[in-house]
Amino acid sequence: MHNKSVAELSRQLEGGKISSVELTREFLDRIKAEDSQYNSFITITEDQAMADAKAADEQRAAGNASPWTGVPFAHKDIFCTNGVTTTAGSKMLANFVPPYDATVAANFRTAGAVCLGKTNMDEFAMGSSNESSFYGPVTNPWGLSGSGKRVPGGSSGGSAAAVAARLVPAATATDTGGSIRQPAALCGITGLKPTYGRVSRYGMIAFASSLDQGGTMARTAEDNALMLNIMAGFDPKDSTSADRAVPDYTATLNEPLKGLRIGLPKEYFSDQLSPAMEEQVRNAVREYEKLGATVKEVSLPHANLAIAAYYVIAPAEASANLSRFDGVRYGYRCEDPQDLSDLYTRTRAEGFGSEVKRRILVGTYALSAGYFDAYYLKAQKVRRLIQQDFINAFKDVDVLMSPVSPSPAFVQGEKTSDPVTMYLEDIFTIAVNLAGVPAMSVPAGFVDGLPVGLQIIGNYFDEARLLNTAHQFQQVTDWHQKLPQ
Ligand code: GLN
Repeated sequence: MHNKSVAELSRQLEGGKISSVELTREFLDRIKAEDSQYNSFITITEDQAMADAKAADEQRAAGNASPWTGVPFAHKDIFCTNGVTTTAGSKMLANFVPPYDATVAANFRTAGAVCLGKTNMDEFAMGSSNESSFYGPVTNPWGLSGSGKRVPGGSSGGSAAAVAARLVPAATATDTGGSIRQPAALCGITGLKPTYGRVSRYGMIAFASSLDQGGTMARTAEDNALMLNIMAGFDPKDSTSADRAVPDYTATLNEPLKGLRIGLPKEYFSDQLSPAMEEQVRNAVREYEKLGATVKEVSLPHANLAIAAYYVIAPAEASANLSRFDGVRYGYRCEDPQDLSDLYTRTRAEGFGSEVKRRILVGTYALSAGYFDAYYLKAQKVRRLIQQDFINAFKDVDVLMSPVSPSPAFVQGEKTSDPVTMYLEDIFTIAVNLAGVPAMSVPAGFVDGLPVGLQIIGNYFDEARLLNTAHQFQQVTDWHQKLPQ
């Protein structure tokens, strides 16, 4: 059962071939038996999951089921879940039990899906390797042995590793600068970052509010479509959510790709990309040509400024968002504070890890009087130019294709001593967030036995086309079906 997709499990439940109680038991047993190797879960909600599975079976018996009724999945531990600890990978929130559901969590609950637990992540979603989590690093199921354990990517490394190891068929994730696409690529699964505003941010612990976007991770594009069907939509509780109709993302998966216009941004096929990685990406593009697509080179002339702009804007917003963790209202509080200043200082010194502190310091500096114009304002201007690059590119093509990351999964500890090396992991993903367009990572081959992802970038609110483009590729290739040993 654990090798089946969400779509297949849903059909089996519908046909009465299996019950949600049996299915949930099987996945929970797998998590308990195997996750010590990966550390992909922070919290396992066994009792609640079994109760939800029983309720789902009753709902199916009563004849009012959704495709998700009784299907197990997991939430990245950044989505608030009513009554279930939500840590964002931080010591600061180790004892935080939200009294409400994020809209995304409520959506899965309403659909009748069964949440098995909360997945590990970089602290406050800051990182590209899942090594900044207070709850320990996650290991990539493709990199358990050999020359050292490998990272699953980050920040949604727990969700990606859990799906790759088939501990859950699907998991939610978030992407501020690459945190869905890069871990999906490194773990050999399929992930989608929707257009900014497509999925509500209500109850999703904030990192950089103008960039944060919730999205999907599963083994197939079809399953990502099933997830987005219940996650997307306007939410009056999130003023940045888009008030637009939500199509049925599964309805267009089978459209033929003949005539699809693909653009290859020349800046993304640069020296930073290893020749072996480039070969896999180019092979994937050739598959699309066989399906009737046309390919041309395009340019995103400001792409090389994306990392610099992001590492001003994201820390600036983070420094504001994280000021709420002060030891007064909720979350961690230091022992025996002497006075208010001591309370703030020690709570934040003890509660945050070093990468989070680095971002708060950088962001506070960039926003301070005298530096605001030189850094924050300048970065916002660069952001506008990057946005315009994408608008221009989409005048001539339907989708852009590129690598997701410059190299496959690296060994744990390899990049932790130099933050800039770590930041460069997102060199091909970050511009997408600054522009706000949607993008996917689709399994497209292997280098040295490790998965490689193809990035497919779409125009604003063109998720249906992205999913169609990815699904058609998965009908003629089997990279997404390869399993780690
Ligand atoms: N790796 C990037 C960062 O550390 C992106 C993280 C994310 O998308 N949440 O900021």
